[in-house]
Amino acid sequence: MTSAIMPTYAPADIAFEQGDGVYLTSTEGKKYLDFGSGIAVSALGHSHPHLVQAIQEQAGKVMHYSNLYRIPGQERLAQRLVDHSFASSVFCCNSGAEAVECGLKIVRRFQSENGHPEKYRVITCTGSFHGRTLATLSAAKNEKHMAGFSPMLDGFDQVAFGNLNELRDAITDETAAILIEPIQGEGGINYAEPDYFKRLRETADEFGLLLFMDEVQTGIGRTGKLFAHEWAELQPDVVAVAKGLGGGFPVGACLANEKATSAMAPGTHGSTYGGNPMASAAANAVLDIVLGDGFLENVQKTGAYLRSQLEAISSKHDFLGDVRGQGLLVGIVCDDSVVNLDIVKAGEELGLLTVPAGGNVIRIIPPLIVTEAEIDEGLALFDQACEGFGG
Ligand SMILES: *Cc1c(COP(=O)(O)O)cnc(C)c1O
Repeated sequence: MTSAIMPTYAPADIAFEQGDGVYLTSTEGKKYLDFGSGIAVSALGHSHPHLVQAIQEQAGKVMHYSNLYRIPGQERLAQRLVDHSFASSVFCCNSGAEAVECGLKIVRRFQSENGHPEKYRVITCTGSFHGRTLATLSAAKNEKHMAGFSPMLDGFDQVAFGNLNELRDAITDETAAILIEPIQGEGGINYAEPDYFKRLRETADEFGLLLFMDEVQTGIGRTGKLFAHEWAELQPDVVAVAKGLGGGFPVGACLANEKATSAMAPGTHGSTYGGNPMASAAANAVLDIVLGDGFLENVQKTGAYLRSQLEAISSKHDFLGDVRGQGLLVGIVCDDSVVNLDIVKAGEELGLLTVPAGGNVIRIIPPLIVTEAEIDEGLALFDQACEGFGG
């Protein structure tokens, strides 16, 4: 099949026509259980009536005007994010990479405005993912992603995820901030102890660094808290979110506390589309649901159920190992007798969508509205997909 699409993806030959809740129906009329959520995006599943209504109503009023004028929906969105977090202000953008870019600019400018223009370097972690722009590629230092795109942007020093001593050793007089994911999503649902994150906070304070967390994948309820850093009971300085925030409408946001916000002033950053009336209506509709009574507790409950059921499946198949994650951000490790993508493909054949991640991990990240019955249905397909693999 020839395509006019630039060949940056090698998509499966499936297209979807309709989505309802956790289900997607292909153009060929085949029904799929969506346990990938468009990579942790479709937080409310598909065609959620509240989200659909909000977008339809806003489209009929005014879709876009610029940040040169006040946008009440964006003001409300920012205020709600502030009310439910460490932050005192929010910059709205359109994607995860942009949210991270905004945070990188904030941490540099913070140091510069505070008399330390020489502090421009950011410590990042191996196995991280922060997006596909040049700065975010430079931050994550993933060899495969960087190939052919050199030179990278200067100013990133990398240490092992979860190793506090190595991180402390990497701090110099030029360090501005630490950038880290609470759980590494693309890297393979890699997990560090809450104590590690608490100590990162202490370390940042000790050396005058900002703690910048990339919650593009973990944020907006994915782990059963609005933000995953809440599990470690810490207050970051800057947080990037996107994916789940718009429930499928492209929205990103960079949250900053008062200290970090003080570095920014009119003209220091901008975005044509960021937080326009449509995007803000979508994100506000998502927050209406995610912040609703018992919603996050339910994500914790269904997440725990998913993990326990997945552990049972893991023990049935020799090649499956560790089940890890938090809330509905769950991964299962395959040993090297199989390739994760082959299992994902076998699931697709049976009508189950999952997503591969680094470290030969399969991500099982259903919409946050998934029920236990739907988890049973999906995992039965997963179990079946695993038959015939391994020894
Ligand atoms: C997906 C992701 C990004 C990039 O988001 P885009 O919207 O694709 O730019 C950045 N950081 C993390 C942790 C992500 O999971």
